[in-house]
Amino acid sequence: MSEGMTTDATEERGPTTMQFQAEVSRLLEIVAKSLYSHKEVFLRELVSNASDACDKLRYAALTRPELAADDPTYRITLSVDRKARTLTVADNGIGMDRQDLIDNLGTIARSGTLSFVNGLSGDAKKDMALIGQFGVGFYSAFMVADRVTVVSRKAGDSQGWRWESDGKGAFTVAEAEGAGRGTSVILHLAEGEDEYLDEVRLRRIVKTYSDHIAVPVMLAKAEGEPEQMNRAAALWTRPKSEITADEYKEFYHHVGHAYDDPWLTIHYRAEGVLEYTGLLFVPSVQPFDLFNPERKHHLKLYVRRVFVADEVEGLLPPYLRFLRGIVDSEDLPLNVSREMLQSNPMVSRIRQGLTKRVLSEIGRKAREDATSYATFWNSFGAVLKEGIYEDFENRDTLLELARFRSTAADGLVSLEDYLGRMKEGQDAIFVITGDDVESLSRSPQLEGFRAKGVEVLLLTDPVDEFWVTAVGKFKDKPFKSVTRGGADLGRIKGGEERKDEPAPEGMDELIALFKDALKDEVKDVRRSERLTDSPVCLVADENDMDMHLERLLRQHKQLQSTSKRILEINPGHPLVAGIAAVKDREQVRELAFLLLDQARIVEGEALPDPLAFARRMASALQRGLTPAS
Ligand code: ADP
Ligand code: MG
Repeated sequence: MSEGMTTDATEERGPTTMQFQAEVSRLLEIVAKSLYSHKEVFLRELVSNASDACDKLRYAALTRPELAADDPTYRITLSVDRKARTLTVADNGIGMDRQDLIDNLGTIARSGTLSFVNGLSGDAKKDMALIGQFGVGFYSAFMVADRVTVVSRKAGDSQGWRWESDGKGAFTVAEAEGAGRGTSVILHLAEGEDEYLDEVRLRRIVKTYSDHIAVPVMLAKAEGEPEQMNRAAALWTRPKSEITADEYKEFYHHVGHAYDDPWLTIHYRAEGVLEYTGLLFVPSVQPFDLFNPERKHHLKLYVRRVFVADEVEGLLPPYLRFLRGIVDSEDLPLNVSREMLQSNPMVSRIRQGLTKRVLSEIGRKAREDATSYATFWNSFGAVLKEGIYEDFENRDTLLELARFRSTAADGLVSLEDYLGRMKEGQDAIFVITGDDVESLSRSPQLEGFRAKGVEVLLLTDPVDEFWVTAVGKFKDKPFKSVTRGGADLGRIKGGEERKDEPAPEGMDELIALFKDALKDEVKDVRRSERLTDSPVCLVADENDMDMHLERLLRQHKQLQSTSKRILEINPGHPLVAGIAAVKDREQVRELAFLLLDQARIVEGEALPDPLAFARRMASALQRGLTPAS
């Protein structure tokens, strides 16, 4: 429980009024003035929670059968009281004790949802559209109810509890006598919401959204036996051909706690040495917690239809953590602890199978629909690329799936595309790494490549630095950074062929002078092959670390030192030719420092001595403005 939540009661077990966490209050305000068009989804949320509660108890009862012994048949029951205008969703699942009620129904536990709520704009219409996409779970009850009562008794406890709220800032918790095991959510329907008292309507909603729920959803009758409204078979056990896209989608919403449409649905059964069923979804919207290091992945593990655990480590490689869904194993032992699961060789074999399958299905999408694949890649490419670095076994497949921005096209290109466009004499895949495509594509180091029509891949994800170095090659062609080593442009045919002009007069002396002046600042000064429009640029030496990577590591305090760079100068540039003609050696030395600082600025490097730069700049300008005498 968070600090300061208890307000006006000191008696621990008496009725207590408490404030909702601020984020919950904000959420409830939006939900209450709801402009949402599908309010009926509140029922999907409550049934989904009830089903999760039954799954949890079924699993807990494997090791402690006494927990469920008093009422062993799991079910969810809807009942309507027309006179009181209430709709009740009851389950005989795990239940909640006092603290659970306070924590689960007074705060937002999931960090992703929390940051989502903090990002809401306050504009009801926009916010509602977002909420439609991400869902508000239990709190959606307040879309149709002006008061909600939750009566719950936790399996194994004798004391039950009553939680109640009108959704306006506060809730109360009190002891409840005679509560059955599990949870009943009683909705006191708001004015105008009488449709949720109607059996026909309820039946339709359950059929639409909750047919796939594996626990029976019953409708209590005034007289006679309750009626079962859903199919109540685990969706993944049914033949694919009989499952509709909508049924898959609703299952995805339930199992993934997600509200977008799946971009890809993968449903298959592995047979042979290892038997399991996978029902996996790739979301179409990037989930909030994609880069949250605490979240491992979102697959639920079942063993022969019984829910066993979330986030089992080793069930999925980290670079596929965007997947949602379930794996149901036929072979794993049922009562095995989480820790044992992590080191179970069967789990890692399932992981290998899942990974291959998922990558091949993603590859199929890539071939079938490039536009749709581009959307996927923009959301999840940066994560998938972690696999190129980490997963040696699937490296080639991942490299084929990878897409890049490039100097040769507006959209995304593959490495295959790149190879197909290589120029005669070109024997490397040229890349440049940096923070964003726009500034990268203006880099001076690209000028010569552009002039020759040689394509360069523009890499902007931090992970690019690591896999490019680790991988080295794609189909025998090495990756080569255009900001490191020689440009090797001489051997490549194409574009306007640069005639091997003799160096302009005084160029060798100029380079010698620069070298001497800058000997403490740079490793070398040389004539550039890669510059056409800019006077100078910096490059890293062949065996040194790439400049962008070094900056990245320094920013993250992983590196203190800086390697010395090579200053390349463009002999064809009028400024350089002008400097070569200057007689005053001291002045040339000053200009050498000025050009070096200019190259640093363009590169995005900090100037070691900004004052000296300003002084040199001022005096150069001054000379330029003073009429020659
Ligand atoms: P989510 O289901 O995504 O976790 P919800 O807002 O739907 O979010 O529910 C919040 C939490 O409240 C659940 O995670 C669960 O711990 C608890 N909860 C809700 N309904 C029930 C229920 N019927 N039985 C037991 N616990 C429940
Ligand atoms: Mg829920």
